[in-house]
Amino acid sequence: MSDEDGLIGAIEAGGTKFVLGLARADGELIDTHRLPTTTPDETFAAMTSWLRAAADRHGRIAALGVASFGPLRTDRSASDWGTITTTPKPHWSGASFARALGPFGVPLAIDTDVTGAALGEWLGGAGAGRGTVVYTTVGTGIGTGVISGGRPLAGSGHYEAGHIRPARGAGDDWPGICPYHGDCLEGLASGPAIMARWEHDLSAGSAQEIGLIADYLAEMHAALVLLHMPDIAILGGGVAKAPGLIEAVRAKTRAKLAGYVESWDTDLGAHIVPPALGDLAGLAGAVELGRQALCESAA
Ligand code: ZN
Repeated sequence: MSDEDGLIGAIEAGGTKFVLGLARADGELIDTHRLPTTTPDETFAAMTSWLRAAADRHGRIAALGVASFGPLRTDRSASDWGTITTTPKPHWSGASFARALGPFGVPLAIDTDVTGAALGEWLGGAGAGRGTVVYTTVGTGIGTGVISGGRPLAGSGHYEAGHIRPARGAGDDWPGICPYHGDCLEGLASGPAIMARWEHDLSAGSAQEIGLIADYLAEMHAALVLLHMPDIAILGGGVAKAPGLIEAVRAKTRAKLAGYVESWDTDLGAHIVPPALGDLAGLAGAVELGRQALCESAA
């Protein structure tokens, strides 16, 4: 693909800010912009006007990619495809990227923020060159994106690995905070769950507290290995930065797999790793989503 194919508009939509980008068809960013996430009316208007102005400066937009907070309708056959569904974030349930970006009249790909970050890490970060990459973020919520052969995997909707219910740690009967499940992974090990239980975040946690959260994240990683057989698992988000956490997740994941999966029966130092791109991964992934939409439309 060359510049004659047009440019890719990319949107990384977060709960507090939108990061916008314009990239060449090979993925190289040539312009970026940030704006605050307020209401859909305001934010979408600012988003589309920046994209149109950027296109006036640099050239025609040929495709768009969106990596957004969710939950999000990603089933192409659904009438509300590209819509944020049941978010607790005020005003944003029902906000539609498909409607806001439809007037551009170009191929459009929409996926979750965690899938965007997974794609970005697969392209040029901790998962570069690997066949199957799982990327889990543990922060306000818990979510996983899966990339295989460079493509995001999904079913009729995006995966919800954060709501799997783990085996409980010995003696731990805290009920959890997920409004749907109580003690699912997100209900036990997300940032808000940790705050609700201990009234401090995990970076200030005791070794015992870090060990318990690592146990739940290891339950999750053992399940991800068994489900997806990834080459590498990237573990990001604020909670994952707690000192000693990732080392404990490695040791406990190996113990839970109990030697059953040969390629994961190591110290896992090269298997469960922190992200390499940090904040840059999401926008890079949104560009790649747009690029894939453009290639598919040309095929
Ligand atoms: Zn849940």
